Amino acid sequence: MSTQRKIRMGMMGGGLNSFIGIVHRIASYIGEEYTLVGGVFDSNFENGQKFAKKLELDLSRTYADIDTFVEKELALPAEERIEVVVVVTPNFLHYPMAKQLIENGFHVICEKPITNTAAEAMELESLTKKHGVSFALTHTYTGYPMVRQMKSMIAEGVLGKIQKVDAQYYQGWINPVIHDKEKRAGVWRLNPEKAGQSCCMGDIGVHAFNMVEYTTGLKTTKVLADLNTLYEDNPLDIDGTAMCQFDNGAKGLVRASQIATSEENNLCIAVYGTKAGIKWEQENPNYLYFMEEGKPVQVLKPGHEYNSELSAISTKIAPGHPEGIFDSMGNIYSGAAKAIRGEEYLEGAFPTVHEGVRGMKFIEAVLASSKNGNVWTEIED
Ligand code: NAD
Repeated sequence: MSTQRKIRMGMMGGGLNSFIGIVHRIASYIGEEYTLVGGVFDSNFENGQKFAKKLELDLSRTYADIDTFVEKELALPAEERIEVVVVVTPNFLHYPMAKQLIENGFHVICEKPITNTAAEAMELESLTKKHGVSFALTHTYTGYPMVRQMKSMIAEGVLGKIQKVDAQYYQGWINPVIHDKEKRAGVWRLNPEKAGQSCCMGDIGVHAFNMVEYTTGLKTTKVLADLNTLYEDNPLDIDGTAMCQFDNGAKGLVRASQIATSEENNLCIAVYGTKAGIKWEQENPNYLYFMEEGKPVQVLKPGHEYNSELSAISTKIAPGHPEGIFDSMGNIYSGAAKAIRGEEYLEGAFPTVHEGVRGMKFIEAVLASSKNGNVWTEIED
């Protein structure tokens, strides 16, 4: 942990009753690297202020909108100004907010999907370079110590040559909503104006895709996808499968569904090589299964000396004390803190803006493949 002062943090969204805001606030506290100062916590200013009051924040740093935020924060002396802004609004606001923040010199921590289009994501990538700010994309699951261990073991070559990858993200929460037109109307994830081009692939398929590229280091070169909207008057996918080809010649699958009835947060990834296989499940995140040809399965756990440096820095307590989603997000925040401070960090310490570009290219290729009659569709590097 750094002995430097805490980084001053702001938030866009994430206020009272938001789903993921609390995960970010707890995560930002875990490494004791950040202090929440203010932001635009809600689409409704009054609610945003109520929320700031509850957190005992300085109300003068809670703003009605991003324009006021930028104007008032830039007017403050640099040593008081918010340095990093966390964007946790519905999808359609990520791009315009992140762009405005980057152009005004703020570091950004942003939720996925990074933007609505790959072109927007590429623009954000070049803007971060131009303005010299850091950008962390919160693909939450990459922060788990055993996911990081999986990445390290694959990089060491313990699997041999990778020949098959299977990533699945199954949820069932849309099932009670999708069959009822009125209920559907109240869900922003099913509204293209707020969610963007995709529901299921943009919301969770992109996490599974990111896990594949994060853990294996492979690049996906082509996809053949089949998406399902279930109803003709539902414009966005809520289920889908993408067959994938990778740059080493291996093949695999990214499967995602929000109508896998009664599934909760069933994200799993399995990677099989010529010598061994390795498997991880989000609902049981402290266990990593290593399956060597001809040997009994080994179960690796966090906090042990046999784990890699990247896994070790992502564990905060002795073995046997289970860590979960808050800790995983906390590890991304700790990695991002190093980038914000200009310190060195390990590759894989946090997902970058480039992973956002890859994710958007995947979503667009999957949508095009499905729309064009399930044809192989290239993903440019
Ligand atoms: P939500 O609807 O629960 O919360 C959205 C918040 O944004 C609310 O507080 C709302 O008032 C606020 N908001 C809306 N418009 C705003 C504006 N103009 N200015 C300021 N605040 C505004 O949504 P959620 O489920 O928390 O999702 C938010 C984002 O997080 C989405 O992009 C989603 O994809 C992502 N997400 C990521 C994960 C993950 O595992 N990384 C999990 C859930 C959600």
